[in-house]
Order: sequence, then structure tokens, then C-alpha cells
Amino acid sequence: MKKILIYFGGFLMLFFIIPAICTITPSKEPTQETLSTEVSDEDTEPETSNQYDYEKYKTIKLLHPETAQIEELNIDEYLYGVVASEMPASFELEALKAQAVVARTYTIYQTIHNSVKHENADMCDDFNCCQAWISKDERLAKWEQTEAESNWNKIVQAVDSTKGKIVTYEGQPINAFFHANSGGITESSLNIWGGIDYPYLKSVETTGEEGYTQYSSQVILTHQELIDKIRTKYEDCEIDFAQENCIQILEYTTSGRIKTIKFGNKEIAGTEARTLLGLKSTNFTFAIDGKNITFVVTGYGHGVGMSQTGADALAKLGSNYETIVKHFYTNVEITEVNSL
Ligand SMILES: [Zn+2]
Repeated sequence: MKKILIYFGGFLMLFFIIPAICTITPSKEPTQETLSTEVSDEDTEPETSNQYDYEKYKTIKLLHPETAQIEELNIDEYLYGVVASEMPASFELEALKAQAVVARTYTIYQTIHNSVKHENADMCDDFNCCQAWISKDERLAKWEQTEAESNWNKIVQAVDSTKGKIVTYEGQPINAFFHANSGGITESSLNIWGGIDYPYLKSVETTGEEGYTQYSSQVILTHQELIDKIRTKYEDCEIDFAQENCIQILEYTTSGRIKTIKFGNKEIAGTEARTLLGLKSTNFTFAIDGKNITFVVTGYGHGVGMSQTGADALAKLGSNYETIVKHFYTNVEITEVNSL
């Protein structure tokens, strides 16, 4: 009976709850910003299926940009360093497992589609470019000594227990973007990077992320500081703060992030405003007073794909890593690399 109930619960999740969350339609109009990971993304056709032999990805050539050295690592060892760097070890094991699967998928996707990005290397350890990575020694030194060993073991367990598992859409590894905190709703890739409409990178809602208040932030700028920042890109920008509506939000994305905003005589994309002003996401409000302008920002990151705090929130509610991955990436499967 218990089993039947579990199956029935799973059935409910699969057929009703997940699709209900996943069917928010993204806006069709693209914005201008591209991430460094997207700029050089070669839109090449995937190769034939025999490429997926995990043996082929057994060794990752990892570039350390600071020293320009290239280190050869077993993919699982590489992933220990990625998960250890990308997600707090205090997060739920199922969230860490989801992170391991997503990082493995991202690595393989980049190796297939973006091999020209780094000369002689598959990935680098810069999170602005590929994904973050930290060596075991460095990681252990940063943790409290009493919990360092158990933290590391938890990360190893997350990677090893999902060995060879990746996220696929129609049989192909996905471009598995992820970010720190979505503020409760993720963003479709089209709204952030335009052009490329990844069918699995749609906007989805997640409950429980509001508890991660450390990911909310604010930026306070004087009127002149704001003008100076906009002028680093738009030299002829003028803002008359005596005017009402001198700063105006013109359009929101379907997830409620800012799509277009006007600063004085300049109309710019929300993603560009985020970069120019150093905001942590495009989900922000602002208030102007006699001297300053205050931006209140929700969430952290571009908002596309898996939210890491969202993954932890779902795990706390009892979701396993597969359910978490399938929540954030629409209509995907978890596949063994060797079975493709
Ligand atoms: Zn890189």
C-alpha cells in the first residue's frame, strides 16, 4: 500500500505538478546581453552518438588562467572541485547531486560545442568563463577543520553516486546553465541572451527560495555616480534628476525581471543595466531621493536554468536530484553517458 501511495505521489508530481510549473511562456523578444560563456559558443551540430563514451571524457584538461597552466584531471576529480566550489557543502545531499549532474552535463556540452574556447584546454577554473573549480587542499583549508573531511566526503558522494549521469533533451546533452538564486522564478534563456531559444531553458517557479535572504542586495549610487556608470558605455547619456520619470522601467520579462529601462535619454536592456551598475540580477526596483538612487535587487545571477538555492529548497522539501533537475530544465531526461 505504501508503495502504491509513493507511486501515486510520483505520478501526481510527474503529470500534474511539474508541467503546471513549467508551462510559463517566455517572452519572444530577445535582449542584448551575452555572457562570456555564450559569446564564443559555436553553434555546431552535435557529433554522432559514439562520442558519448564516458571514456572520451575521462580526462579533462583544466586551464588555470592565473598561471596559464593546464592540468589534466580525471573528470570525477574535476567535478569534486567544481561542486566544492560552486555549492556550499552545507546544502542538502540531493542538491549537491543535482549540482554534480548539471556540472557534468555542462562540461560535456562545452567539450562538444565549444572546444575552440580554450586553446589546448577543455575548461578553465574561472566561473565568469566556464565554471568555478577549487583544489581539494585549498577547499579543505577554507573549511572549519572539524567539518572539512566530512564536507569533502559529502561532495565526493554527490559526484560518485551520480557517476556518468547527465541531463539530455531529445537524446543530446543540454547546455546546462545554472545560477545562485532565482528569487523564486527562473528566466528563459531567450530573455537573457536572445537568439538562442533553448527549449529546456524556460521560466519556472520555485518555492522556498525566499528563505535565502543573503542573496538579496542593494546598491546605492549618487546621481553623478549613476550617470558616470551609464556613460562608461553611453558617453552622451544625460539624466535630469529634476524631471519626474527621469528613470523609467519600460518593459518587464514574463518572469518579472527588467527587460528594458530608460535612463534619461538612453533606453537600454535590463541585462546591460545590470552589468553597467554592478547589480546582482535584473530583478530590481529603484528609488530616487534628492541625492541618491537606491537599487534593491532580488536574487543573484542571470536566472537561467537551475537555481542552486532553489535546488536546496526543493531537496529540503523532499525532492531527489532527478526531480530537482527535471524541475529546472523543461522536458529533459537523466541519461547515463555510456547508454547514449
Ligand atoms: Zn573558460
